[in-house]
Amino acid sequence: MAVPLLDLKAQHATIRDDVVAAVMDVVDQQAFILGDPVAQLECSVAGLSQVKYAVGCANGTDALLLALRALDVGAGDEVVTTPFTFFATAGAVHNVGARPVFVDIDPRTFNIAPDAVRAAVGEQTKAVIAVDLFGQMAAIDQVNAAAQGRPVIEDAAQSIGASRLIDGARVMAGEAAAIGTYSFFPSKNLGGYGDGGMMVTQDEALFEALMKLRTHGSRRTYFHEIVGYNSRLDALQAAVLRAKLPHLESWSAARRRNAAYYDAAFADLADVVTPYIDPANTSIYNQYTIRVPKRDALQTHLKDRGIGCSVYYPLPLHLQPCFAYLGYQQGQCPESERAALEVLSLPVYPELTTAQVDEVIGAVRAFFGR
Ligand SMILES: *Cc1c(COP(=O)(O)O)cnc(C)c1O
Repeated sequence: MAVPLLDLKAQHATIRDDVVAAVMDVVDQQAFILGDPVAQLECSVAGLSQVKYAVGCANGTDALLLALRALDVGAGDEVVTTPFTFFATAGAVHNVGARPVFVDIDPRTFNIAPDAVRAAVGEQTKAVIAVDLFGQMAAIDQVNAAAQGRPVIEDAAQSIGASRLIDGARVMAGEAAAIGTYSFFPSKNLGGYGDGGMMVTQDEALFEALMKLRTHGSRRTYFHEIVGYNSRLDALQAAVLRAKLPHLESWSAARRRNAAYYDAAFADLADVVTPYIDPANTSIYNQYTIRVPKRDALQTHLKDRGIGCSVYYPLPLHLQPCFAYLGYQQGQCPESERAALEVLSLPVYPELTTAQVDEVIGAVRAFFGR
């Protein structure tokens, strides 16, 4: 039995009527740009994230770009961030003209190490970007403290709906940062039927700036206070996402159940390090990522048996060819480099059947001769 890494058709089959009706409504209205579906989704996501303001935009990469611009990050500034993330996190920093400063991760959670942030913050530091990787929030309270007054952007593209207990209160992914950013790329936990993104904030001035930036720097049509972008959330995508949002919590719970099932099934395999979730965190498991020696051999073994698996991420950003100009060397972020060699993500999507999860477990155990 083949088990894909993600099965979007299986999810679509469970919500098809609702999604098609929502899409046809937009089509019948012929109101494709912003409008009610976008405003309503912004309101719902602000509620989920426990924030005052949410602003839809074209994708999760633009959400980072607009967040950086709203915080006035530009030429001559440094932004401290993690090299163990999807490329967009640092690409956005480069594209506003600033310099990414990469610091290493906590090897257990794969998220940015607060102490490393503190050590890297200096005169030129204008902002920090923490990433909530694989569905688990970074230690955002500690990162905020380590940023020493600089604003923190929380790249929550993989973690919408995740939470963390901070001083006894449940804080949502995106809530505790100056600006939180989400992606609705189809493979995220809340995926659209195309590209989409959103930014959240508690700060009215930042909200106003983000609203302007997504429509060419204007609040009043044809009057431009700043130079912005054309980066709106498509109304068709907003309609799809509104139909999907009520299911997000149960989908995340199903991912957690699958993760717990794997955890138990791999507990006796000394070579498999299962995901570590900080006890303060509730993960939404965008990925179920194990560490193993001989990772490439395991990946080949699983692929040969029709089991989808993938390496997120094989080359840390400080060693990417496009960032050679920054002058980083191998060995400067050792935990990120080690993670890149050892990680493998297994299927964890909510629609997996028990038989499918058992198939994955059997194949992993067979590799280790158990
Ligand atoms: C997916 C992702 C993004 C970018 O989102 P897009 O919508 O694809 O532009 C940014 N950061 C992280 C960590 C992501 O996983």
